[in-house]
Amino acid sequence: MSKIEMKTPLVEMDGDEMTRIIWSLIKSELLAPHIDLKTEYYDLGLEHRDATDDQVTVDAAEATKRLGVAVKCATITPNAARVEEYGLKQMWKSPNGTIRALLDGTVFRAPIVVKGIEPCVSCWKKPITLARHAYGDVYKNAEMRIDGPGSVELVFAPAGGGEEIRTLVHEFAGPGVVQGQHNLDASIESFAKSCFEYALSTHQDLWFSTKDTISKIYDHRFKDIFAEVFDAEYRTRFEAAGIEYFYTLIDDAVARVMKSEGGFIWACKNYDGDVMSDMVSSAFGSLAMMTSVLVSPHGYYEYEAAHGTVQRHYYKHLEGKETSTNSVATIFAWSGGLRKRGELDGTPELVAFADKLERATLSCIEDGQMTGDLARITSIANPTVLSTVGFIEAVAQRLK
Ligand code: NAP
Ligand code: MG
Repeated sequence: MSKIEMKTPLVEMDGDEMTRIIWSLIKSELLAPHIDLKTEYYDLGLEHRDATDDQVTVDAAEATKRLGVAVKCATITPNAARVEEYGLKQMWKSPNGTIRALLDGTVFRAPIVVKGIEPCVSCWKKPITLARHAYGDVYKNAEMRIDGPGSVELVFAPAGGGEEIRTLVHEFAGPGVVQGQHNLDASIESFAKSCFEYALSTHQDLWFSTKDTISKIYDHRFKDIFAEVFDAEYRTRFEAAGIEYFYTLIDDAVARVMKSEGGFIWACKNYDGDVMSDMVSSAFGSLAMMTSVLVSPHGYYEYEAAHGTVQRHYYKHLEGKETSTNSVATIFAWSGGLRKRGELDGTPELVAFADKLERATLSCIEDGQMTGDLARITSIANPTVLSTVGFIEAVAQRLK
């Protein structure tokens, strides 16, 4: 049997610890036997990031701009303990933060839904994908404690001189607290474009929610920019695709989400997205079953698992003990990247292979073959608990 050809390479970003082991197993057992795999390889493992003064992360992001599609393994974000463990030159920044800044992208998190792992919310039948605006608001705020009576104002001083604009925040009669927040039209516009692009790419409706009835200038600006971008660039494409853009108040959105059957993208402001993504992902069952896609407004895609490097399992592995680490989200990162590559290149065989890989993975679980984390929460009776390697081998068997 001849292998599937790839026209264009995708960017491959290798990573750390247990997920680095899973990464190479996926390539050798699930991909290499079927695809003539073409990748541009960047080693984002912590040692190599340190050796290159983190230049490799920047190079990988630049390559993503050139090739359009990337697949990334989970990586360590160094803290003080890691600096010591790896003898690092410095506490390098989060690779995901660096890549997101360079691609100007938005992260979409979606659960992998499979029979046997039921969401806590019984009406949720399809995934709910959450998009979080990752700039500004309370995450870049300025705040103060107020000790006693006095007034607080917002002041805008135009850069080239000219008259200041002032507005009273509060006339304090006693102690309290105060906070200033900001956001940028350009950032909101990029966020809107990424959301519209991803909705088209995955053929799902897009919901967006803010608190514009209370925040009549700040949140209302988000609502207006989304509406302007939609009317100018996406309305006709959405109509042609048969999908909808739907704006509603955040409280109404929460109420509707709880009663929905899923199958849409929910775009949220920074804080709402922070909170709601944790709620949605834990209600869907397991962190090990969450995928994550970074989408830039220019249409570059980077796929990865939402979980980290699973350090605890890795240390067990180093002690020579058997592990049962779930590789599903990392497999889906690869299938997502390969599918997108196939769509962009016009290679339907590659798209079909991505579908087949996902079906093979899910059918293992549905037939009761799974890793320990899923065995603990499944509704399937007497599941077979497989090791890290055992699960990937079971998927490989089905692919054949
Ligand atoms: P983690 O790797 O997500 O793992 C936390 C715990 O969740 C694990 O100990 C395990 O629980 C469970 N878990 C997560 N993924 C699993 C999987 N695939 N299969 C089975 N169980 C899984 O988070 P962490 O241990 O806090 O972080 C480790 C490193 O990952 C850190 O250095 C952090 O910087 C990095 N990180 C990277 C990314 C990224 O690259 N996107 C994201 C988050 C964290 P049990 O131990 O109970 O089995
Ligand atoms: Mg959070």
